[in-house]
Amino acid sequence: MKPRRNTKPAIKGTKSEYLHPSVFENVLAQFNQAAGRLNLDPGLAEFLRQPRKIVSVNLPVLMDDGGLRLFEGYRVQHSIILGPSKGGIRYHPDVTLDEIKALAAWMTWKCAVVGIPFGGAKGGVVCDPSKLSLGELERLTRRYTADLIDLFGPDSDVPAPDVNTDQQVMAWIMDTYSMHSRHTVRAVVTGKPIALGGSLGRREATGRGVVITTKLAAKHLGMNLKKSNVVIQGFGNVGSIAAELFCKEGSQILAVSDVNGGTYNPQGLDLSELLQHFERKKTVAGFPKAKPISNPDLLELECDILVPAALENQITSVNAGRIKAAIIAEGANGPTTPEADKILEKKGVLVIPDILCNAGGVVVSYFEWVQDRAGYFWPEVEVNSRLEEILTRSFDEVLEMSLKHEVSLRVAAFMLAIKRVADAAKVRGIYA
Ligand code: NAD
Repeated sequence: MKPRRNTKPAIKGTKSEYLHPSVFENVLAQFNQAAGRLNLDPGLAEFLRQPRKIVSVNLPVLMDDGGLRLFEGYRVQHSIILGPSKGGIRYHPDVTLDEIKALAAWMTWKCAVVGIPFGGAKGGVVCDPSKLSLGELERLTRRYTADLIDLFGPDSDVPAPDVNTDQQVMAWIMDTYSMHSRHTVRAVVTGKPIALGGSLGRREATGRGVVITTKLAAKHLGMNLKKSNVVIQGFGNVGSIAAELFCKEGSQILAVSDVNGGTYNPQGLDLSELLQHFERKKTVAGFPKAKPISNPDLLELECDILVPAALENQITSVNAGRIKAAIIAEGANGPTTPEADKILEKKGVLVIPDILCNAGGVVVSYFEWVQDRAGYFWPEVEVNSRLEEILTRSFDEVLEMSLKHEVSLRVAAFMLAIKRVADAAKVRGIYA
């Protein structure tokens, strides 16, 4: 049996990962492992596991050559128990409904673990934005927004950027929604340009959160970010900002990669030269002052900290045993399969789970939503210090749970998150 399209593994995993490659199954496995320790009512557990709403659309888009092309899009709201559902929109040729369901569920648990008043959602469009003109991308985005307009709103469902979507895409969503509402509605999306009510610090927030949580994890292990060797897969919003901030902490970046391949220098990459190369070539591949390296080989490099910051299912049961890092900081959502988790735990690798490690983005998205609604904007230093405060408190709570129950940080984070959502669901009661 061939793996389904939604696997996107760097390397094929065990037989069970190979036969059951669903990313949503991975979230369910993570949920079940944690919920099993919470004594949840089985009906409530099922309610919390499944998405509340799934919408799929076929979007006709007028292409530059005058032809019409149909694009498949999704929005999944996993939960609105704690507040409006919150989650990014992904544009990628491999987007599947299974993946979007998984990403929506992770958003629920992420918001709960850092204690912000949002549920979880995610959206996606099956497309390759690198093959679309700016005009085609704009028409696709506006049509996606218009077709899903009844879902979106500051009090109902608030999108944000994810893989291959950026401030410009958020600006088009905000404008389309506002035109239909007949007034400007800034708080309908986060990750917007500053000129439209975006928050200072939002663009850097996910990468900043990765570095903040890694620093806390390193401290727990008696390590220091200064002079630590870091390897990063993915050089987009999350990976590139994390690289810059790790450098500021005095770490050395040994290798980075993107969809075109990686670049590796065991003595450390010169980040400012690499950024200039990236600016010119739009890829880290081919950087002249280092050796080329493939994405799978990069994950297995000798280093202190490994940051997967690209896509799901990159660390599987096949390569987990060969990972040499002491800390895995999950910048990406779902980069590690449940099978791989078991192997890493046995090896003593500390995994900072995605729902904690990359939560900086949604925390500052929450700040953006608050600022838009208040119409009062904070200086960047305030954004960053509040972000650090929330992530430090959350990390400490997760670590305490993990030590108390002798479970991994992932299980502890899920336990905290599930308990918070379950308690809220119980006190709200079921409207039946
Ligand atoms: P991005 O589009 O800015 O960058 C993605 C990077 O991954 C690019 O460098 C791309 O070339 C690389 N990539 C894509 N496919 C790859 C492959 N098959 N192998 C290796 N590299 C590949 O996206 P981003 O916003 O940086 O998101 C990266 C990850 O972080 C995703 O898992 C996303 O869900 C997660 N995340 C993002 C945010 C955010 O605020 N942007 C917040 C939380 C989590």
